Amino acid sequence: MDFLQQAPPSVQDLLRAGEPFIPFSEYSVQDITHLSEDETTKWVEAKLRDGKPFVIRGFSRLKEWDRSVLNNERLGSLSSSAAIPVRNCHTGRDAKMRLQDLLSQTEYARTGNVREFLYAKDLQCPQEWIKALDAFLPSAMRHLGSLDLFRTLPKEIAPEVLMAYVGTRKSSSGFHRCFSGTVALNLLVESEGAGPGSICFGTDKHSQAVYDTYMERLGKSPHTDWTDVSTTQLKSANFPIYITHQQPGDLVIFPSATAHQIWNISPMVTKVVWNVMHSSSLVSFFDYIQPFYQRYCHADTGRVPLIPLHALIRGSLGTEDEALLLDVFLKLLDDEAIETDSVPPMKTVDTQGAVVECNFCGLTIWNRHLHCEQCGDFDLCLTCFISGRSCKHVADYTWAELIPRAYCMEVIQSTRNRLRGRLLSRIKNPKQKSLGALAAAAADARKQPMMERLCHLCRDSHPAWKGVACTQCSAFFCFRGLHRHFDVDLIPFLRNTDPWVCPKCSHFCNCRCCHFPLPYSSKDKPVRSRIKSIDPRGRIMGFTDNVFDQKRGKRASMATHSASLPPEVPSRVHKRARTQVSDEEAELPRQQEDYSTFPNRGMIQSQSTEDTIHTNARPYVMSSRSIGPKGQLRISDLVEEHSPAEAEPSFQAPFRHATPLLSLTPGDGASRRPTNEPSVPATTDEASISFLERKLEELRRYADELLDLSLVDSHAKVQEKISQLQGQIEERKRRKAEALFDSLDRDFPELATVAREEARRRGL
Ligand SMILES: [Zn+2]
Ligand SMILES: [Zn+2]
Ligand SMILES: [Zn+2]
Ligand SMILES: [Zn+2]
Ligand SMILES: [Zn+2]
Repeated sequence: MDFLQQAPPSVQDLLRAGEPFIPFSEYSVQDITHLSEDETTKWVEAKLRDGKPFVIRGFSRLKEWDRSVLNNERLGSLSSSAAIPVRNCHTGRDAKMRLQDLLSQTEYARTGNVREFLYAKDLQCPQEWIKALDAFLPSAMRHLGSLDLFRTLPKEIAPEVLMAYVGTRKSSSGFHRCFSGTVALNLLVESEGAGPGSICFGTDKHSQAVYDTYMERLGKSPHTDWTDVSTTQLKSANFPIYITHQQPGDLVIFPSATAHQIWNISPMVTKVVWNVMHSSSLVSFFDYIQPFYQRYCHADTGRVPLIPLHALIRGSLGTEDEALLLDVFLKLLDDEAIETDSVPPMKTVDTQGAVVECNFCGLTIWNRHLHCEQCGDFDLCLTCFISGRSCKHVADYTWAELIPRAYCMEVIQSTRNRLRGRLLSRIKNPKQKSLGALAAAAADARKQPMMERLCHLCRDSHPAWKGVACTQCSAFFCFRGLHRHFDVDLIPFLRNTDPWVCPKCSHFCNCRCCHFPLPYSSKDKPVRSRIKSIDPRGRIMGFTDNVFDQKRGKRASMATHSASLPPEVPSRVHKRARTQVSDEEAELPRQQEDYSTFPNRGMIQSQSTEDTIHTNARPYVMSSRSIGPKGQLRISDLVEEHSPAEAEPSFQAPFRHATPLLSLTPGDGASRRPTNEPSVPATTDEASISFLERKLEELRRYADELLDLSLVDSHAKVQEKISQLQGQIEERKRRKAEALFDSLDRDFPELATVAREEARRRGL
């Protein structure tokens, strides 16, 4: 990471080096001050549609910029004096300190003792600052302003997105996309010293797909990771990287769903950062972001699926936006139509204003969904249900809706009346099945008594609802096998109404038994960490969720997607403890692989705080997920990173040592080493867990090999052994956790409560 090790690069030098670096489009605030609100809105809209990052300089030179309010001292005095989590971007860990103390770090600068890497993000922006911003920002750029569709959501459920950031030199926000496809706006308020405060890197909307491939190649998720990418690495990008420097009064704008990275280079910068849900963000969200979020269980914190209905009810949008929202809404409504002769009974649920989230993928459910009668509080979105996701009550689901269809039709009618002739022409694809129809079929299929079929691909039997039969030869192919061997994407596959002819009948089957001259060669699937349900009760009942590449034994050595692991700490496969082995796991051996992706490439990830903010800052009740209060020390960091690592059996827990966690002294990264004080958890359990896990891995390899040779009976025996071993590991982990919490209770009782709560939530 050259940024962290060396002096910051200069924007001029990078631009001189040429491709892929090109400058941001730059404007002066004088370019827009003479425009009317309407004209400014059009101007900003055009830029956002163009999809390239841009910067508007000089807001601090306006007479409306109130210097007496917009300064660090005032921010400090207006903010709470409680300790807040401050990320050390070098170690990737959070420490707690008071904002006032962080702001006075400039004292260190004066004495030549400069603190670096510290970043306090997502600080509540004081009301007085919000007022000060409103005094000079045109509505089009404002949070909840004329282009921000978040303004249409009821206040209690709109995401909290206007935040203050304070960072010291070399603090950074690695490359990422902001949540739910939003536009990101970043205004530099104060910077210590004369030079530029920050360097901003951006991408454009035309590079979305190449950016995704580029990040995948770095072993990172282009949607959910925050990854510092060095300028040396960036030179290999095959798409434009826009760069600019940012000084006080400069507002940088990154259009919908475009990735960006920011490095702070002056000793101390203070910013206000916010996100706008522009109509182009809405389109990006549904087309591009949501399928990914659903697949990888990344919650949509923007509540985007609720926006179309709320926006249409509210009216008062521009004609163009209204037509677009109507179109989006009609698509949502069409897609949940069931379209069968016997529509299943539908329960209308009054949530009293609470938001319903899918317990599996975290998607905000706007209307129809499936509800587990047994759990009583477990809901699935249609996509998850169709994809074979479930709680343990596979077939006890009933239909529920939040908004009666008749009401939706009224809203559509009144919007049409308002718009009259100005409707978008809609092309409906008649050959596509709706999600509603697919979910109805899935619900029926799940209720069939265990009908098993022998799969042509795995030579194993599966419940009939986990696959599809050929319309010509009636051979059965499981969905998981279709994905692995033939890159079949489940939902589009099922939407297709054409009669399905199997790979065998099409003469390209690549299984071990068919020997066609031109077998299909399946794409390499990136090795990913196991997809985990947001609610620990969620079970993956087959299908395409946990599909790994076919290179057996190729195991990513480094892991965790918690993203806060400092590179120097040897990581291990992040596993969620399970209290029981689900039926599915016993039955589908290949799903057991818990390989994790992201091999560590020595890059620092500085994600977590920002990502959690938006998750944690929700002020309303949720259906089922309990999340700690904003700004809470992430106990998961402690538990996952600092608990004795399996790799070092003699590692002793540092929990008794208060200083490294609670104070921030120079070099604290290094002081977070194991101490020689009595270690809390029993090291014997420790050693045996890692021993058993190694054995488990071996067994899984055997299981795979046996299955590859179709030795089904021996495979079943190995599976049995695997289940036993898993039980033993669970038990030891539970014991270890108990010992850990007891000690934590002694030393830091308040952390113990948090840790217990998290352990409970994670099913430990
Ligand atoms: Zn879902
Ligand atoms: Zn259930
Ligand atoms: Zn066939
Ligand atoms: Zn199969
Ligand atoms: Zn075959």
